[in-house]
Amino acid sequence: MEKVLVIGAGPAGLFAAHELASSCEVTVIEQENHIGGAGLHSDGKMNFHPQIGGNLLEFLSEEDALKILEEIKQIFKKYGMEEVGNDWEKLLELERKSIRAGIKFIPIRQNHIGSDYLPKVMNNFRIDLEKKNVKFKLNTKALDIDSKNEKIIVKTDKGSEEANFTLLAPGRVGSLWLIKMAKKLGLKMHFNPVDIGVRVEVLNDVLKEIVHDYQCWDPKFHIRTHHYDDHIRSFCVCPYGFVVKEFYEKDIFGVNGHSMRDKKSKNCNFALLVRTELTKPLENTIEYGRSIAKQTNTLGGGKPILQRLRDLRMNRRSTWERVNRGYVNPTLKDVTPGDISMAYPYRIVTDIIEALDKLEKVIPGVGSDSTLLYAPEIKFYSMRIETNKMLQTAIPNLFVAGDGAGVSRGITIAAATGMIAARRIKSLIK
Ligand SMILES: Cc1cc2nc3c(=O)[nH]c(=O)nc-3n(C[C@H](O)[C@H](O)[C@H](O)COP(=O)(O)OP(=O)(O)OC[C@H]3O[C@@H](n4cnc5c(N)ncnc54)[C@H](O)[C@@H]3O)c2cc1C
Repeated sequence: MEKVLVIGAGPAGLFAAHELASSCEVTVIEQENHIGGAGLHSDGKMNFHPQIGGNLLEFLSEEDALKILEEIKQIFKKYGMEEVGNDWEKLLELERKSIRAGIKFIPIRQNHIGSDYLPKVMNNFRIDLEKKNVKFKLNTKALDIDSKNEKIIVKTDKGSEEANFTLLAPGRVGSLWLIKMAKKLGLKMHFNPVDIGVRVEVLNDVLKEIVHDYQCWDPKFHIRTHHYDDHIRSFCVCPYGFVVKEFYEKDIFGVNGHSMRDKKSKNCNFALLVRTELTKPLENTIEYGRSIAKQTNTLGGGKPILQRLRDLRMNRRSTWERVNRGYVNPTLKDVTPGDISMAYPYRIVTDIIEALDKLEKVIPGVGSDSTLLYAPEIKFYSMRIETNKMLQTAIPNLFVAGDGAGVSRGITIAAATGMIAARRIKSLIK
């Protein structure tokens, strides 16, 4: 039986293993002592849309993309995800309302698992894969890769593995390692854009109409800004949620947000992100984003910066006294009230203010004086490893999938890229 190695037990690796289980001998190598990857630490907002969380249409026709997303939904349901119905007519109504405000709203079929339930779903996933003879080697880190005699050899901290096919799905956390391996193996790569923005926090009532009446758990608004014609979008809306600190790398951090199913706050938070692409002489979007994060960390005295929207508009820093004048009580307290415009480029700050002004027409209250902004929130995407449409690299038995390879930035698309690669591997085995 042909042997397939999967590096990384995140959504990309797990869905690949699920697809391959009955056709070959599958071993999943994971450096942590649990499966689930970054997906496990998220609150499991599932976007079943081919162009949210990546772009499946680069790999599949629209019809096939929708089909694979439906399969992913059914697999998650099998392991315990409850399906939440979306009222499509209401979503279309919100789309029309947004168009009148000059905003593009993207209607999506969505689901939400909750960070407190996701580990159970992942555990069911693992038990089922083990029943199907998928072997998990946890606490095992892949260190090096070689291609020899039509075999891929993976050196780990526990020994060496050899396989007919290998899928590299190490996620964001493994992206630097993946870049190193790609360079060594002579695979071509290019930079993806970086998303730079803030985490916005308002009272739940502000988004209640959208979340409850329109039944839209994680609304996706895309906005073109007036001055710079930039693309800015809402991302990761967390009703009843909490803002948290997130480490990007050792000494560089930003903020993120999450919601739980059982524990609820009085606030709703979401990210507003400006897509930033760079051309010569600095194409390295990762370096640019990192320098902005560092500067913001320095100005915040080692903490994220918190600013009330009124203070940003009045060109002054926030203080705790000014924050407390507002109606929104921040869910993340380990912050420094300050001035985001001291740390961020003028262009990004202008984009953020303009976006909030436009959103105010669809979500009254979102652009109010009390609205809180946390920085930095930066979404780095890995370098894109060049592949064909089946995620096959220039080395024919070496495949990549998921966030680490720069082909996704969300659970469902990561899972889909894992499945696409696995299907190609299956077709080569037959
Ligand atoms: C806080 C947070 C919240 C999020 N919320 C959401 C959300 O609500 N909805 C959504 O769609 N997306 C969300 N995301 C993004 C989502 O989690 C990722 O897009 C998704 O998990 C990517 O899947 P992946 O399989 O590519 O990588 P990962 O999930 O990162 O998995 C990669 C795995 O590979 C392992 N690995 C790395 N290097 C090695 C190595 N050398 N050897 C062995 N193992 C290795 C890692 O330990 C990891 O387990 C969130 C992310 C974060 C960080």
